[in-house]
Amino acid sequence: MIKYDHSIDQLKQQLDQLAQVSAALEPTPEQREHYIQQLSQYAHDFIDHLHERISFKKGDPTPGSLTINETGQPFEQLLVTYAKEVEQYGIKPASGGHLGYIPGGGLYASSLGDYLADVTNEYAGIYFGSPGAVTLEEELLHWMKKVFGFPREAMGNLTSGGSIANLIALTAARDKYKVKSERIANSVIYLSPQVHHCVTKAIRIIGLEDVQIRYVNLDDRFRLDAQHLETLIEADKAAGLQPFLVIASAGTTDTGAVDPLEAIGHIAQKHQLWYHIDGAYGGFFILVDDKKPLFKGVELADSLVIDPHKSLFLPYGTGAVLIKDKEALMHSNHYTANYMQDTIDDSVPISPAEVSPELTKHFRGLRMWLPLQLHGLAPFVACLEEKLVLTDYFRKCLEQEGFKIGPTPDLSVSYFWLPADDISTQNRMNEQLMERIHQDGSVFLSSTSLDGMFVIRMAILAFRTKQRTIDKAMEMILRAKIELGF
Ligand SMILES: *Cc1c(COP(=O)(O)O)cnc(C)c1O
Repeated sequence: MIKYDHSIDQLKQQLDQLAQVSAALEPTPEQREHYIQQLSQYAHDFIDHLHERISFKKGDPTPGSLTINETGQPFEQLLVTYAKEVEQYGIKPASGGHLGYIPGGGLYASSLGDYLADVTNEYAGIYFGSPGAVTLEEELLHWMKKVFGFPREAMGNLTSGGSIANLIALTAARDKYKVKSERIANSVIYLSPQVHHCVTKAIRIIGLEDVQIRYVNLDDRFRLDAQHLETLIEADKAAGLQPFLVIASAGTTDTGAVDPLEAIGHIAQKHQLWYHIDGAYGGFFILVDDKKPLFKGVELADSLVIDPHKSLFLPYGTGAVLIKDKEALMHSNHYTANYMQDTIDDSVPISPAEVSPELTKHFRGLRMWLPLQLHGLAPFVACLEEKLVLTDYFRKCLEQEGFKIGPTPDLSVSYFWLPADDISTQNRMNEQLMERIHQDGSVFLSSTSLDGMFVIRMAILAFRTKQRTIDKAMEMILRAKIELGF
């Protein structure tokens, strides 16, 4: 117990005792070496055997196995618990066999960046705290601005993911157009029905639940119909409403469709709307020469979201947003508190904390900077191109085996189904096939419904997905088909 009537000598004695116990928080060099060796062995075993393992396994952690035990336990034992109770079940995002939803990745070099960021614990929220960390993150943003044709003066932020990146962008759009109180009911947002659900979440979070939402028609490949967009805007203007925001996708989650970015950009400009593009999944495919034309017009956006933890293969935890209008972005995020007065200096770069709801944050730039600087860009571009070729390869293999496949995809998300004479039989068969595939788990696929048709979806984006992964997927699918007697 802390007593305030102690003499200095008594305090010293007490401090000695406390220091003996709290010393456990700073392992000795020998202990550190021991931990890191075990961890490193674990990582090698994990990575080297990943391709032999299944990608999806149903199961739940043993009840109580992860409950906090207030007395310490040996590191070895904790690793065993992790392997059994956490790593064993669910989808394996690090595996090349994750072809469901939008896969993750998990570059090893990023884990080294995280290790370094955590050991040094640089304060990446404010320039004054770590000029180097903030500059490093700013250089990543400059690089992304260059890749997407944004001006160097544009602003940006590294976020925890696409959801928060979208939230920051839509907040800036709201603030630019002062969509508040009595204006809300008359303001209009234009969306594709295929927009990611985090966009709809963000609209609600930022208090715009009651704005007018217009769902724009799609063409036969699930891309936003620009002509219909303009018709809707004109009708709304004529009715005295205030259109202020249009949201397009550079790669939808469901089918990987890239909306006609340039046409939408011109319409947004003509009608003075904020133009937001969600490229969380597809963004970095702009690096592949063949795909550049699809992204024409991305530079017209007022705000753009990209997810390095998707199409740059980083482990989960890094998204990005680029925004051209500095005032709009800072309106809700910039704040000066008295206790922050030492940090104010107009001659240095704007700190991440001034353009994001976060103050203290993980130094998440290092996990992106390190792999890019260590490997160079070429392997990333080749890996993205490889995903596109694998998508084509998978589709051709499926077609050869009598499956129907969706139209040639814009990027690396596609779908297929087993055909039958009537739609309800067909849906039932494909649902059963999906279930069997999930039970098998060798490769993880997901499903979706498109205009009432149940289809099995493939999303090829993990950097570890290789030809052998697709061959394994084909074997699994054919095995399931035979077992079901289809
Ligand atoms: C994944 C995804 C998001 C959400 O990003 P998170 O990183 O999961 O928060 C948003 N939009 C699209 C198109 C996505 O694919």
